[in-house]
Amino acid sequence: MSSLFEQAIEQSSRIVMFTGAGISTESGIPDFRSPGGIWTKMSPINFDVFLQSPEMRREAWRRKFEIDKTLIGADPNKGHMAIAKLVDIGKVTHVITQNIDNLHQNSGVPPSKIIELHGNGTYAKCLDCGTRHELDEVKALYDASDDAPACSQCKGIVKSATVSFGQSMPEEEMRRAEEATLACDLFVAIGSSLQVYPAAGFPILAKRNGAKLAILNREPTDLDQIADIVINAEIGATLAPLVRLN
Ligand code: NAD
Ligand code: ZN
Repeated sequence: MSSLFEQAIEQSSRIVMFTGAGISTESGIPDFRSPGGIWTKMSPINFDVFLQSPEMRREAWRRKFEIDKTLIGADPNKGHMAIAKLVDIGKVTHVITQNIDNLHQNSGVPPSKIIELHGNGTYAKCLDCGTRHELDEVKALYDASDDAPACSQCKGIVKSATVSFGQSMPEEEMRRAEEATLACDLFVAIGSSLQVYPAAGFPILAKRNGAKLAILNREPTDLDQIADIVINAEIGATLAPLVRLN
């Protein structure tokens, strides 16, 4: 635990927590780039490829259901709970997350304070009419047919409600993330390699706008050189003492 970090949290009143896959590894969900991570075995399918053919969509769903085996039943960990507490006492104004696992919601952070830059993988949406589809329903259709599931309302293409590589970023979330970033006095990037843009642009924006930037990650990140505080440590063990959770 860095005392500089503790001081920064104490002295700030409008903190933004920005999280990546690293905060969820302690919940048993593999991250993106660590050795042995899911993505080293199963590369993500780009959006244009997904749109190309029913065969590619079926393959995308096959991979999705495979990956979901690690997501189903995962519970928020000490890191998520510490952030939820900091939101609850009014220190943290927003949680901007690149994660799609719904664990910030499950830890009790109100949805109005969560900004999901890359969508949510716990449900699906029709790309044409926007209707929400539950994964159980999609899985049943997938298992029963040779084709990728189609929308029950409009026969449109159904896709996990996540943002794929090559898919445009959600406008409203990008706007809310920018607003929160410009209003914060401390921006804390947690468990992200900070290599995925435009998401990784937010810590840069915060710093340029005069906020303090802290980075908590077990290994160095691409933005360490512009940070005020860099903590290379485990996330749960670093965040829990801030709110006396352990
Ligand atoms: P990343 O995998 O690129 O980086 C995660 C970082 O967290 C790594 O540098 C790793 O060293 C660090 N880390 C892992 N566990 C840690 C721990 N317990 N303590 C401290 N550090 C730890 O992840 P990213 O930057 O979020 O980019 C990956 C993309 O993939 C994201 O855009 C996200 O949408 C998606 N993704 C999401 C999930 C999820 O929802 N849980 C999981 C995998 C990938
Ligand atoms: Zn539809």
